Amino acid sequence: MGDWSKDVGDHSYFLNFEKMAYVKGKHPSGCILCMVRDKSPDVVDLSIWRDELFIVSVNLYPYNPGHLLVYPLRHVEDVRELTAQEEGRLTALQRSLLDLIDRACSPHAYNIGFNMGPAAGASINHLHLHIIPRYPRETGIADLIAGKRVLVEDPRETTRRLREMISQSPLSIANS
Ligand SMILES: [Zn+2]
Repeated sequence: MGDWSKDVGDHSYFLNFEKMAYVKGKHPSGCILCMVRDKSPDVVDLSIWRDELFIVSVNLYPYNPGHLLVYPLRHVEDVRELTAQEEGRLTALQRSLLDLIDRACSPHAYNIGFNMGPAAGASINHLHLHIIPRYPRETGIADLIAGKRVLVEDPRETTRRLREMISQSPLSIANS
């Protein structure tokens, strides 16, 4: 059991957090991340930052508090579609966001990555980078599936807290 849960935790943890039910009520036909971008009243907006290239949002169903999604405003579905400018901005943004989450949540480690395509666990085609803070002795994926995992912070509270931190100390993307 121990080995199994470790294996599953290591390989499919993103999968379980792709649901991202940002949608209020009836499921719309459009892309959820494009709807957040377009400030649709039909989706929950947990974005904490945006510029002309990217949006950063708290995941509505975070693996851990501070689980962020970073996605381009442009609806692209493959990392190879990112322009050089977008790649540069994403790198700078990732650096700033890791500093922010270090300060906000004091994690011990991170998982950072993309799920590209449904077979990889992506349920939203719009390309998005997961930044997931990790802690020692956190409950494993098996506990989560069994419903034993408890989130210690409502994602709306995380959103409020991170927005406030950013308003006091803006993210630096100076080198992009
Ligand atoms: Zn989209």
